[in-house]
Amino acid sequence: MKIAVLAVQGAFIEHEQVLGSLGIECIELRKAEDLDQNYDGLILPGGESTVQGKLLKELGMFERLKKQIEGGMPVLATCAGLILLASDIENDDRQWFGTLPVTVRRNAYGRQLGSFYAEQEFAGIGTIPMTFIRAPYIASANPEVDIMAEVDGHIVGVRYGHQLAISFHPELNSDRRIHEYFIRMTAAAKNTCPDRFCGQR
Ligand code: GLN
Repeated sequence: MKIAVLAVQGAFIEHEQVLGSLGIECIELRKAEDLDQNYDGLILPGGESTVQGKLLKELGMFERLKKQIEGGMPVLATCAGLILLASDIENDDRQWFGTLPVTVRRNAYGRQLGSFYAEQEFAGIGTIPMTFIRAPYIASANPEVDIMAEVDGHIVGVRYGHQLAISFHPELNSDRRIHEYFIRMTAAAKNTCPDRFCGQR
């Protein structure tokens, strides 16, 4: 299994380190040619969604990535990545990939709560640490979208088929369960799962 990490801006190295610690091969997507490689899943890291979206267009990567996601490529999107996937951004006229039918609010926690930490239940995983950095939350979601986590009454994690999108940064804590969950999702899509993740199931 090979996972591609979008590496044009933001916190991509931390995701690569987590994948490395789990023994999963990863590649970086920095330019259009990188999209020619074979990979089984995609991580869209946190950072600045506007910068990432513009760079993807300038680098000629945007349309191909959008097609891959529409075609069923498993995606883990964190923070800015969630904004890139969202069909609607409440406080911004832009839309990027638009493959996830949710309305997000950017920088939803305001200045005072720019960054904070919580521990909350994530469906199918249990209680996990959640680090939020100028995070969005999901103001509303299409009924077909599974709500995976909420903090203080706001949705911070969803799954819509092959798209797993969260407001927080799982790569900044030592807990690996979000990445492991995504690896199982990717393995299920590929129809094989490494023993150490699915062997006992
Ligand atoms: N505030 C950023 C944005 O709007 C997201 C922050 C993050 O990815 N940690 O794109």
